Amino acid sequence: MQIPLRIYATVLAALLGLAFGSFLNVCLTRWPAGESILKPRSHCRACGRTLAWWENIPVLSWLALRGRCRTCGAWIGWRYPLVELAVGLLWAIVAWRYSYWGVDFLLPNSELALELARASGRAVFFWLVVALATLDAENLWLPDWLTWPGIALGLAFSVAPLPIFGGTFASFHRGPNIHVQTAIATLISMALAALLILLIRWTYKLIRKREGVGLGDAKLMAMLAAWLGLPGALLSFVIGVVLGALTGLLLLALPKASAGKTNAPGENPAGSSAGAELWAFRKLPLGTFLCIGGIVSALWGQPILAAYLRWAGF
Ligand SMILES: [Zn+2]
Repeated sequence: MQIPLRIYATVLAALLGLAFGSFLNVCLTRWPAGESILKPRSHCRACGRTLAWWENIPVLSWLALRGRCRTCGAWIGWRYPLVELAVGLLWAIVAWRYSYWGVDFLLPNSELALELARASGRAVFFWLVVALATLDAENLWLPDWLTWPGIALGLAFSVAPLPIFGGTFASFHRGPNIHVQTAIATLISMALAALLILLIRWTYKLIRKREGVGLGDAKLMAMLAAWLGLPGALLSFVIGVVLGALTGLLLLALPKASAGKTNAPGENPAGSSAGAELWAFRKLPLGTFLCIGGIVSALWGQPILAAYLRWAGF
């Protein structure tokens, strides 16, 4: 009868994820406006009415209200249920993957603690990445006070669980200096990942004579490397760039999307298409695509990289 434990853990994590996703929505709405996330209580952004308790239930309230305020009918937006579902689903996956130890209790306590630390680390990582992805998509903004703590936490979760919980683990596997080695390796990975973005930034500036890629993206890449290691961060980058390029092409193909920026009548068509290109590049949130890459990389990075290495003949 051990299998149900895994199911309980997964359901509990999903519910917790929905609740933390709901809290994240409050943050995502109030942070850009510079408002407190603690007070006032949840209210409609259009008419200011304080919400009843049953209007604050993740996903279900949104469905029951069909995405609109009960009194003024203002559109609540897709972001609310999507962010809640994303955090709920990702936390459920983390619980499912890490609670395999529920199937048998063969793991020694130190390794059980290590697995728990890793699982909570993954949960924190996914919450941060969903937050950054949404902030960049909605505001083209990757705040320092999320990326820097994200970097510090990533480093801490990569290194700290080893010396704290992994006494036997550490000496058994890689020798007593495993935490020093891991810290140095992680710091180098972070520097290289950030450098990749900085090189693109400088190249872009040199050619276009203006800002294209923000420093926030460099800190985000360092953060991804802190959590996922250099291969995981590079995989996130490749996925992010491919997704970004596809989205850019899609936006260029859609006449509506570039209609907002159209040049005054009489300007030549070549200028207008260059304008569309600039529009697409200026508006694309690279950070959002990097975060999506980070999620894919965290979930399936190892099988993807292994398949790539096999394909490349290593
Ligand atoms: Zn309202």
